[in-house]
Amino acid sequence: MKAAVWYGEKDIRVEDRDLKEIGDHELKVKIAWTGICGSDLHEYQHGPIFIPVDGPDPLTGGQAPVTLGHEFAGIVEEIGSKVTNFQMGDRITVYPMITKGIKSSKEDVFDGFGTLGLHVDGGFADYAIVPEKNAYLLPATMSLEEGALVEPTAVAVQAIKEANLVIGDSVAVFGSGPIGLLTIMAARTAGATNIIALDVSETRLEKALQAGATHIINSAEVNPVEEIKKICPEGVDIAFEVAGVEPTFKQAIESTKIRGLVMIVSIFSKSIDWNPFDLTNSGVRIMASLAYEPVTFQQTINLIDSGQLEAKKIITDHIEIDDIVEKGFESLINDKSQAKILVKLSGDM
Ligand SMILES: [Zn+2]
Repeated sequence: MKAAVWYGEKDIRVEDRDLKEIGDHELKVKIAWTGICGSDLHEYQHGPIFIPVDGPDPLTGGQAPVTLGHEFAGIVEEIGSKVTNFQMGDRITVYPMITKGIKSSKEDVFDGFGTLGLHVDGGFADYAIVPEKNAYLLPATMSLEEGALVEPTAVAVQAIKEANLVIGDSVAVFGSGPIGLLTIMAARTAGATNIIALDVSETRLEKALQAGATHIINSAEVNPVEEIKKICPEGVDIAFEVAGVEPTFKQAIESTKIRGLVMIVSIFSKSIDWNPFDLTNSGVRIMASLAYEPVTFQQTINLIDSGQLEAKKIITDHIEIDDIVEKGFESLINDKSQAKILVKLSGDM
């Protein structure tokens, strides 16, 4: 089968790859669509970040070269001998996190995790082998394209839940890329009032307005903290840091009200220079959110299916797998009008 395989930084090859054997509790999935994620882009530009290169990943057994892609949906084509909850023809999306499951109450990614499509083969391929417990049935009213958006949307929904956002809260979202846009949508769904989107690209800020931001601020042109304080004089209740760089991290703290919260949703690829005294002065708290719990994944499917969260709005392009480097990764780096690019595999809807 055809697959897009990560070999190293700036080295992703579309090539013929064997599919591993299906296990007793696994499904063989014919993939319809797979989204390109910011973390795939990080692996392409500055990898390896998550991809195991020095030996097999302890949780998944995977090791580079690996098939990338963790945002995917498709149709069950074959089931393992002990699978009970799925049958051939089921339309599913994939919860790609493999966790240790140490905590009794819930799966916790902070116990350590592996991801299908980073630590072991994933979804930029015609087929994937997926553990039964990682498959989630899609409602008949939801397309497989929307199914491929569940994973990134769940990241935003989890961040909103971790931040304990309540109806009426004011929020600032630093960074209007795909996860920023989904965070804006999820904040709106959760009942935030002032939703202030920040970015340095006008095209992205336009998208933020379409996603439901009530205000947009171009941080390259004005002082973002001053502008936020014009809208919320005491600062916002919650600032979401979705850009992952030093200036936005500091601005997020400065534009949050006393005892408010800065929620980090981004991946910082570099260390920053920062003095925690900023917190001593304001009582602002800092937290980070990673991925999602299984319950959030199911809730995200329900929110997209009901129309409460119109994730589809972030799709800006559909491409063929043969074009994944030029029209996918390179385009995301060079063209700020791109948000979510979906790679067509079977293209089933
Ligand atoms: Zn992702």
